[in-house]
Amino acid sequence: MTTFAGKFYEPTDVGFDEAVFSRVFNARRPADRMPSAVLVADNDQDVAAGVRYAKENNLAVAVRSGGHSWAVWSVQNDTLLIDLGKLNSADFDEVAGIVSGGPAIQGGNELDLFLAERGRFFNGGHCPTVGIGGFLLQGGQGWCQRGWGWAAESVVAIDVVTADGDLVRADAEQNSDLYWAARGAGPSFPGIVTKFHLKTRPRFTHLFHSVQVYDIADFAEVMAWMYEVEPTMSPEVEIVCVSLCPPSVNGEPRKRVYVVTGLALSESEEAARAALAPLQTCPIVDRAFENVVTESSMAEQRAGQIQMNPENWRYFADNVWVDGKTDEIIAALTPVFTTSPEPDAFTIWFGNGLMRELPDMAFSLQAPAYIATYLAYEDSTNDSRNRVWLNDAMVAAQPVTVGQYLGDSDMTNRQLRFMADANFAKLQDIIAKRDPDGRFVRYLAKDSSTVNRNHWEV
Ligand SMILES: Cc1cc2nc3c(=O)[nH]c(=O)nc-3n(C[C@H](O)[C@H](O)[C@H](O)COP(=O)(O)OP(=O)(O)OC[C@H]3O[C@@H](n4cnc5c(N)ncnc54)[C@H](O)[C@@H]3O)c2cc1C
Repeated sequence: MTTFAGKFYEPTDVGFDEAVFSRVFNARRPADRMPSAVLVADNDQDVAAGVRYAKENNLAVAVRSGGHSWAVWSVQNDTLLIDLGKLNSADFDEVAGIVSGGPAIQGGNELDLFLAERGRFFNGGHCPTVGIGGFLLQGGQGWCQRGWGWAAESVVAIDVVTADGDLVRADAEQNSDLYWAARGAGPSFPGIVTKFHLKTRPRFTHLFHSVQVYDIADFAEVMAWMYEVEPTMSPEVEIVCVSLCPPSVNGEPRKRVYVVTGLALSESEEAARAALAPLQTCPIVDRAFENVVTESSMAEQRAGQIQMNPENWRYFADNVWVDGKTDEIIAALTPVFTTSPEPDAFTIWFGNGLMRELPDMAFSLQAPAYIATYLAYEDSTNDSRNRVWLNDAMVAAQPVTVGQYLGDSDMTNRQLRFMADANFAKLQDIIAKRDPDGRFVRYLAKDSSTVNRNHWEV
């Protein structure tokens, strides 16, 4: 009989439901999926024993690190769910500048604080509670990704439990197929990563935030200018435009606005202000309700993210990479930015800067701009209305859609391209070789035969 240092739950055990769902971020949970057992692993040996247990008992394996996947990829039928929540420690090698972190360490609340004490930075996810596990495996759109690249580009090695239950190191020299796949395969990575080894950078010393608030009716004019200015801006500025409804003032109904933000992560106040200065060139800047540049901190940025993404709310999320002529992009995106039925829903336009060639890794699809909607709400009776609205808004965006980012995707609802064809084919070869029995679950897709294709092209 297999024994574990961690806790093992079967459906009849007290605490089973809690083990399945208590670490899931999205309160809109799957009604028709349930694992056969849950292992809350204590350490990497437990993870390996869990994989061997699954093999002996003819179960597939699903994995959870931070529990933030919108579609709740970790909860799947006929599986042993291996919860890695306790694998959340970090070590720093000062000579190499490499941090080694467990997959459940939270990129913002934990890893960033650990590195700040050492004067270092890693561009983890924006929401501070996202686990580095799922985030890095799908590419990782972290702070200032526009200038500093996808977070997965800073992965130098991983420790992995394979489908046979062996613990191996994968990097550019050894098990390099797993190392290649771990940077972009997302939820169909054929193994369980028990540790990530990450290159860090010296920490910026000055963080300045530019915020301009426009009427939502100015969306088209602001975006026409944004498409001109964003490619010219310094790589140390993260540029995000957000459609949102600020809190009500004096009981007035909440009104949607369009907020243009620039966050400079710089070496001096002068450098930060200079990097943000082009944002003052908006031709309708005089119409902004607010236009400020203030000093900020990662703590303030983290608090803002938590406020925008409250825990235990219901969420629909969807996203698209867009490219094309500016006027066509603006027309196609107008519904998703201006017509949301939920006041707490927000939609972002994330400038990706000038396109550069990516290193050879599974992650391989991107575009000059990223659009994502996070439809946050509390009332479950709005589920179907919200689903229909988001699907319709994404249909409107189709003419300029290149594909999508796995991180904000839900393939149980709709499937889009997320990887270059050649990379997807190579990944399938690696999966077939590394996991011939299908021990690890694959993409949780409505139609597994059409994964990595835009649904309207099938
Ligand atoms: C509020 C919020 C904000 C977000 N902000 C960002 C952002 O700024 N940038 C961004 O890129 N993404 C962002 N995301 C998306 C997020 O990165 C993905 O949902 C990611 O999958 C979450 O990782 P996780 O480990 O927390 O999730 P989990 O649900 O635990 O993991 C998702 C899946 O990834 C796979 N997986 C996870 N860990 C491992 C492992 N160790 N080994 C093998 N497979 C594993 C499994 O298939 C697992 O089911 C955000 C999500 C939320 C909810």
